[in-house]
Amino acid sequence: MKALVFHGPGQHAWENRPEPRIEAPTDVLIAVSAATVCGTDLHIHHGVHPEVPPGTIMGHEAVGRITEIGTDVRNFAVGDRVAVPPITNCGACAACQSGTSAHCSTSGPNGWLLGHSHDGVQAEYARIPFADHSLHLIPDNVTDEIAILTVDAMAAAYEMGVKNGAVSTGDAVVIIGDGPIGLSAVPLARLEGANHVILVGLRPFRLEAALQLGATNVVDASQDDWVERARAVLPERGADVVIEAVGSKEALEAAFDLVAVFGRVANIGVHTEPVLLPIEKLWIKNFTFTSGMLSCTSTPKLLQLIASGSLDASPIITHKIPLDKAVEAYAMAEAADESRATKIILHR
Ligand SMILES: [Zn+2]
Ligand SMILES: [Zn+2]
Repeated sequence: MKALVFHGPGQHAWENRPEPRIEAPTDVLIAVSAATVCGTDLHIHHGVHPEVPPGTIMGHEAVGRITEIGTDVRNFAVGDRVAVPPITNCGACAACQSGTSAHCSTSGPNGWLLGHSHDGVQAEYARIPFADHSLHLIPDNVTDEIAILTVDAMAAAYEMGVKNGAVSTGDAVVIIGDGPIGLSAVPLARLEGANHVILVGLRPFRLEAALQLGATNVVDASQDDWVERARAVLPERGADVVIEAVGSKEALEAAFDLVAVFGRVANIGVHTEPVLLPIEKLWIKNFTFTSGMLSCTSTPKLLQLIASGSLDASPIITHKIPLDKAVEAYAMAEAADESRATKIILHR
């Protein structure tokens, strides 16, 4: 089969690899029908995750058809169309049983196996460990490309943004970041009843998408005074919730600045440098700060919201290209200003 293989920082190739085989009785094999490139894949490609060994097949978000099941798999059958999240759930350890499979202790230091410690899903076929507790059947009226949004981008926006930030009726929410996660947070915050949803971003085509997704205001962050312009469209109290979906010092400092008394700053962006916490100003705000890695427990709920017509994420998908153009997809994702790419679907 063909797969996108990581060969160390800056090097990858679409090349021949042996087809995966069932290795444990809880495994399934899937024929990948859609995969996608995530910001985390770009980080791996640039060497930000040195724990990923050269030779690993990349990718951790997919939709596929089950082609073979292990002898202990009870919840799925050959032919099922399933959504494959980045986090696998062993179903047995304390973390998985409490709904925090990001910290699965059976799998290793955490539950992120695919395209990280194990071969991933940017390939024609993939082996999925702990299938019974990790995979999700896709409702018939949800397409592959929309289903793929529910395994990572929307799940991260929901679990670490909207839920950690405790977005509730009447809230003013600022979302910093116009990537697929920041944009996913827009309709999800509206569904929780937020009155003001203000998306801050750099790219005009993504600010347009934010408005289509239900943002009440957008703020162009390419101008220096963007924090003041975000404050100007907030209620006087500030932001009840700031969802930081960039992973930069500037974005997190702005979140601390904009948060209201009793507000919440919900970090999703992956940071690679320390950021100072100005506790001498913040303590008196009684604010709450959350961070974390998603556990993908929200994927079934997100699939149902989409199937019922309550949630539409389609403006996040900008490109659909064949799976064997995975190398080109990474280049398009890096050069988003020119390619106007937000989420690129790789389809078989
Ligand atoms: Zn991802
Ligand atoms: Zn576990």
